[in-house]
Amino acid sequence: MCGVKETQCTHCSHLQVCSYKEKYLDAQKAVDNIMVHTGDRSAIYLRDISWIRPVLLECSYFSGKAPVMRDTMQSAALTAAQASGLRFMEDPT
Ligand code: SF4
Repeated sequence: MCGVKETQCTHCSHLQVCSYKEKYLDAQKAVDNIMVHTGDRSAIYLRDISWIRPVLLECSYFSGKAPVMRDTMQSAALTAAQASGLRFMEDPT
């Protein structure tokens, strides 16, 4: 496993001010490190069992980030260009 793991906090609007974030991340880390005994005196990480989906904790206070507003002028120009491109399909009668 490599890279930075995304959590619910990654996409939460409270991320910058949240006082629960550290506890949430610690709890997620604890879940990620759960070991399962295989019965032969060995154990594997729960996350390494291929047929079990990864467990991602759900925070009760999660609030999704608002979508980023695009440039409205650019968006309007694109819409107008698309509309003019479709005019050839209009019925000329
Ligand atoms: S409210 Fe929950 S999901 Fe959002 S940043 Fe805090 S701990 Fe993370």
